[in-house]
Amino acid sequence: MNKKFDYLIVGSGLFGAVFAHEAFKRGKKVKVIDKRNHLGGNIYCQNIDGIQVHKYGAHIFHTNDENIWKYVNQFVPFNSYINSPLAFAKGKLYNLPFNMNTFYQLWGLFNPKDVEVKLSEEINKCGIIDPKNLEEQALSLVGKDIYETLIKEYTEKQWGKPATELPSFIIKRLPVRFTFDNNYFNDRFQGIPVGGYNRLIDALLDGIDTETGIDYLKNRIHLNSIAHKIVYCGKIDEYFDYEFGHLAYRSLRFETEILNTQNFQGNAVINYNDKDVPFTRIIEHKHFEFGTQSHTVITREYPQNWDLSKEAYYPINDEHNQSLYKRYRLKADNLQNVIFGGRLAEYRYYDMHQIIASSLKAVKLEFEK
Ligand code: FAD
Repeated sequence: MNKKFDYLIVGSGLFGAVFAHEAFKRGKKVKVIDKRNHLGGNIYCQNIDGIQVHKYGAHIFHTNDENIWKYVNQFVPFNSYINSPLAFAKGKLYNLPFNMNTFYQLWGLFNPKDVEVKLSEEINKCGIIDPKNLEEQALSLVGKDIYETLIKEYTEKQWGKPATELPSFIIKRLPVRFTFDNNYFNDRFQGIPVGGYNRLIDALLDGIDTETGIDYLKNRIHLNSIAHKIVYCGKIDEYFDYEFGHLAYRSLRFETEILNTQNFQGNAVINYNDKDVPFTRIIEHKHFEFGTQSHTVITREYPQNWDLSKEAYYPINDEHNQSLYKRYRLKADNLQNVIFGGRLAEYRYYDMHQIIASSLKAVKLEFEK
């Protein structure tokens, strides 16, 4: 059959946009569709009164991989934003990640040696050798004081479950720094695209046929007929009509407000740890781009249970869901003309730099075999 496109990309998030760009660059005929009414997937920014609002949650680009950093910078310059979130807990403000500032705020200690001694005392007091759940894992890594002040209630709000019922693997490591360094990430490169993430997506998709407001799964027969190959970035279980059951997610609800004040909280990200505050953080978007507007836009982030009517944000990678995913994956691997990629198709949490790397890997497999 004479098909119009070589590739139909389902989903205009970073995975789809990078694949589309690379295929187009290699002379392929490409079309990108998205069921939302905009391009960009979860990195989409909504311009509200001149402020780029991260509509699907705050996104800070960070990577240790110089090639990925160069890759994104060829499309849009990045600013020098450094993520230094704060946490409000039990009436006090603390610096994150756990560093000498946090330890001073917690214990009044400012000598790294004293902090090391205090931390190992705290950990030893808990006496946990083989952590069985998230609570025990955190106690074994940082002790009771930090756990109860800065981890327990925040994590329980985020996952909607007591920490004793959460698996220990959620917290693999809890990095502590013995320097006064509030930079949340350890990576060498970090920033926000100047003018917002849409500029990155627009540059990646420059010259490519795109269409929004189209659900591939609802128009599958027609859309399969227009392209030789499909790159599918939607939910893998949905692709197979939930044949083996639903993969579970945790969702979020965002409440965004425009405020007639120049500076609401003095920082882009402030976490609210206590259980009696229903949201987990407030984002003040202008600070991602050092905005000087006379007004501001803030977003409160509320974790919520997921169902099919809500956005799927964080996969619940427990044993049950992982084995369900494997069954879907097996079916996906047997399809000749469909490439499954991205966070929803791979049922995996990816940071942006990781999704770009994963998309470039798929490109390599496809075009350099
Ligand atoms: P998406 O961006 O979700 O794109 C998938 C697209 O497919 C969507 O637009 C969807 O509408 C479309 N689609 C799905 N099904 C269909 C269908 N049937 N038909 C048509 N279209 C369809 N990463 C960082 O590096 N730094 C951060 O600070 C950061 N913060 C985050 C905060 C939150 C709250 C979350 C949830 C994630 C965060 N991430 C962050 C991760 C980042 O969002 C992802 O790495 C990235 O967005 C994944 O891109 P993707 O293309 O896989 O998926």
